[in-house]
Amino acid sequence: MADRIRIIRCLKDNYAFLVHDPATNEATLIDAPEAQPILAALDATGWQLARVLLTHHHWDHVDGLASIIEAHPAPVLGNAADMARLPELDRAFSPGDKLIDGTCAVFDAPGHTLGHVAFHFPNLQALFSADSLMTHGCGRLFEGTAADMFATLARFAELPDDTRVFSGHDYAAANLAFAANYAPEQDALAARQAELPRLATEGLPTTGTTLGSEKALNPYLRTHLPQVAEAAGIPGASPLEVFTEIRRRKDAA
Ligand SMILES: [Zn+2]
Repeated sequence: MADRIRIIRCLKDNYAFLVHDPATNEATLIDAPEAQPILAALDATGWQLARVLLTHHHWDHVDGLASIIEAHPAPVLGNAADMARLPELDRAFSPGDKLIDGTCAVFDAPGHTLGHVAFHFPNLQALFSADSLMTHGCGRLFEGTAADMFATLARFAELPDDTRVFSGHDYAAANLAFAANYAPEQDALAARQAELPRLATEGLPTTGTTLGSEKALNPYLRTHLPQVAEAAGIPGASPLEVFTEIRRRKDAA
């Protein structure tokens, strides 16, 4: 399955993704932070761009779009609820819809922005979560409330543990350093801390961890654990209260 997903590094720390269908040679682009590396990836693979899916309206997820579709004309799809802020769409969808012959489910993922969506490809065991669930962390709450993001992550947590999570930025090292304050499983954390510098040296992506490993390391998926509430300084608090406090501390860090 891994060879059907191409991870493309863009800008300073963004990721875009191509999802390939070997039966048709068509590829779906998820987000368009920067044209040049995405055009280079299309050239290198020979994949035919069939559509672009947008997760949310922030400039660092859409800025490359015009140049990409000029070179590779393809329909642009985004959340109907956020049409006014997204680039011009050829087709609008809504959370709960199934795209690409039913192979891609649209998840509502508010918290970072209100119109943020995620894309789940069950056949590929892949979730493209952009700036909602991130590697060892979650996105900043620009528009939604802590309760919005908490509910978003709770929906993702119900997916199978072997689901690979592809997020929109490489914030893994900073997120992991922060997560260390809340992680009792020091072995898993230490192993990942040892691995990250090697990935950086070799230019390898940090995204694409499994949901199972995120449940072991990501403090925002562990707010139900008594030891995490204690580490947050609010023993006995509800998972949402713990989530809210951890997110507040991260924003203040
Ligand atoms: Zn964003």
